[in-house]
Amino acid sequence: MVVAIDGPAGSGKSTIARMLADRLGLMFMNTGSFYRGVTLALLRRAGGAADGAGAGAVDLTDEAAIIDFARKVELDYRDGKLYLSGEDVEPYLRSDAVEALVAPLSAIVGVRRIINEKIRAVAARNGVVCEGRDMTTVVFPNAEHKFYLDASVEARALRRFTQGTSGLSLSEIEASIAARDEIDRNKKEGSLQRAPDAFYLDTSGLTITQVCEIIVSKIHT
Ligand code: C5P
Repeated sequence: MVVAIDGPAGSGKSTIARMLADRLGLMFMNTGSFYRGVTLALLRRAGGAADGAGAGAVDLTDEAAIIDFARKVELDYRDGKLYLSGEDVEPYLRSDAVEALVAPLSAIVGVRRIINEKIRAVAARNGVVCEGRDMTTVVFPNAEHKFYLDASVEARALRRFTQGTSGLSLSEIEASIAARDEIDRNKKEGSLQRAPDAFYLDTSGLTITQVCEIIVSKIHT
């Protein structure tokens, strides 16, 4: 079974998808990790440390070379973790170096097509709850269950701010979320869109548990 969830950055998709996977006995798959894994591999190849820090410049304008690299890079996803050439790289995927390069990398259409195939291959081996930007529209348009989780920019920024993991002010976080929405909604392929047959839920005024209950009851109806 595939449960596909899309939504903007900070909408709570990851937390919800992880919780749902536990409840339903399926594997959790954060598909952004695949893009982050390719980015980390590129940074390491450019001389970066384990988390990609200190790498030389990575030229994303040579798309053919980047696509060729993405095709060859060895990625796997097991037990909710991304593996790069057999190494569990989860601790490095959210470093500043990866963060700075992953959005433009994920806009390269040829890279998206390769990653989509990798995601489908993992899902074919396991039942999954997957979350991303184009799960319900491009990767699994025929998923058994499709959801679109939304929240206002203000609500998403406030969640990030109260997590305390960012050194930015609330208004700076709001600006960076709005900028990321802009990139996600304007990709040539795989842009963030609401599939007409996905169940839409605005989570702005809801707790994680409330969202989870609504989704579980929807799946069981
Ligand atoms: O969700 P997360 O922040 O980990 O995603 C990392 C990057 O990968 C983001 O820039 C996002 O736009 C991109 N992404 C994507 N398609 C997906 C999942 C993530 O383009 N299915």
